[in-house]
Amino acid sequence: MTVKRLLCITLVAVTAVLVAAPVTAFALVKPLRVVVPTLVPGVICIKDTLCTDDAAKFDAARALYHDGYAKARDAVGPFRDAPRVVFCSTPACAHAFGLGAQAAQTVGDFGVIVAPRGWKSFYLAHELIHYRQAEVLGNLAVATRPKWLIEGMAYSLSGDPRHPLTEPFEQWRTQFEAWHASIGTRDMWAAARAIR
Ligand SMILES: [Zn+2]
Repeated sequence: MTVKRLLCITLVAVTAVLVAAPVTAFALVKPLRVVVPTLVPGVICIKDTLCTDDAAKFDAARALYHDGYAKARDAVGPFRDAPRVVFCSTPACAHAFGLGAQAAQTVGDFGVIVAPRGWKSFYLAHELIHYRQAEVLGNLAVATRPKWLIEGMAYSLSGDPRHPLTEPFEQWRTQFEAWHASIGTRDMWAAARAIR
């Protein structure tokens, strides 16, 4: 085998791996499908940031997006990028994005998936606060920082009406609110960066 032929085969193999990797990731890591939601059969996007599997519910989805976005922005500051949200109206759609029992799920700063029972503005605000956490603190931090900070912030600042939440969520919210009060007028994100 000539060196040229060997190089050619290697190039083809490397290209195949690079092409296959995202496809495999989409297939195996279902929440990553939020990156290209229209790959899921039946999902349509009215714009890059607003998708659903039921065109008849676009107006309801748009209104929820608007309310949840405003609530999250007022609580945790303006978003760097407008978050993409996929509103699933059927369990099949939620399942295709890998949602189990959750009402909604945020996939770092890639986007948000909402299950049929998650069509409420406080759920959306909760998830968009996680999106903002990923923008400010990074995706790794959202996965590794204390739950009372990450989840407590989302439950508290989304105005979640459930009092009390089931444990450990109520405890996380209480701990976050005590910390939030303790930082006074300091910038919340600067203070949050110091929490390990
Ligand atoms: Zn959460």
